[in-house]
Amino acid sequence: MAIDLRSDTVTQPSPGMRDAIAHAQVGDDVYGDDPTVNSLEERLAGMFGKEAGLFTPTGSLANQLAIRMLVAPGEELIAETNSHIVRAELGAAAVFSGITTRTWPAMHGLLKASDALEIARPDSGPYLVSTTAIAVENTHNFGGGTVQPISEIAALRKGADAMGIALHLDGARIWNAHIASGVSFSEYGKYFDTISICLSKGLGAPVGSVMLSTKERVGNGRVWRKRYGAGMRQVGILAAAGHYALDNNIERLADDHRRAKELAVAIAGVDSSLIDPTSVETNIVGLDLTSMPFTATELSKRCRDAGLWISALGPKYARLVTHMDFDDAQLTQAIEILKKALVA
Ligand SMILES: *Cc1c(COP(=O)(O)O)cnc(C)c1O
Repeated sequence: MAIDLRSDTVTQPSPGMRDAIAHAQVGDDVYGDDPTVNSLEERLAGMFGKEAGLFTPTGSLANQLAIRMLVAPGEELIAETNSHIVRAELGAAAVFSGITTRTWPAMHGLLKASDALEIARPDSGPYLVSTTAIAVENTHNFGGGTVQPISEIAALRKGADAMGIALHLDGARIWNAHIASGVSFSEYGKYFDTISICLSKGLGAPVGSVMLSTKERVGNGRVWRKRYGAGMRQVGILAAAGHYALDNNIERLADDHRRAKELAVAIAGVDSSLIDPTSVETNIVGLDLTSMPFTATELSKRCRDAGLWISALGPKYARLVTHMDFDDAQLTQAIEILKKALVA
């Protein structure tokens, strides 16, 4: 069977998770009657120190509902150039909410508060777009699983407060950030007005994200979720997978991080320009192929022929993501395949 490192979304629900799904208590969640959804929303809100949560089918929807609550039509959200909200949500902020974006570039997506604050322009009057929110991605996906320093997050909050600007956390992989940094979820939570988290990345649930914020924003978000067609019924069968993931799959992310580091060390051993292993802090290994005589697509094809699936995310950028269905035996095989593919 192929080894699939395209993303940490490719995991299959484990037998224990399927059991939790099978035995979930459910109700009609549009009526607020699904006890498993309600308890999952409350549980996550408590973990991050927020008042309330809203279960959504995808992280993109959780992000979009959150920023819709912070930014009015014709106002601006600023974010890092390669952030998921800007690059991978297909213009949803503009299409659905009339939100414009401006971006700042950062090496590996690493947050420097001053980068964001320097381009922020609140209260711009009748001539220019006003900045009303800043989004931070932690860990940063296209940056290579980068963990954002808590000192920069704190500095950003301070500067944003001085300007009256709101902060959104795209925390699809906040689990990985927590395991790598040791910073608690409530500490991360306290700096942000809205948060999105994903249960279907490293935590291994088949579906599910949650938007976290005040009761008021979550209440309004619930109305917009229904308007977008994502009011779901006996969805406790999915929330049960989320509970199971929180109970069982957070601490084990350390194994994914160790395997990603081992992959990076082996790849750097072939050619040190491909990756700096010290930059691999979590479960994402981004390869810079600029000095190689082949493209990311060619490399991914070569790997695929040998039984290893990786992502080509740019002409010269390939990505490997470790996850709960990738074990040490597969790690050994993957390294063998990569060593051959990278010199061919
Ligand atoms: C995966 C991801 C999301 C959400 O993606 P969906 O596929 O919509 O669930 C949001 N932000 C980041 C950084 C992600 O990696």
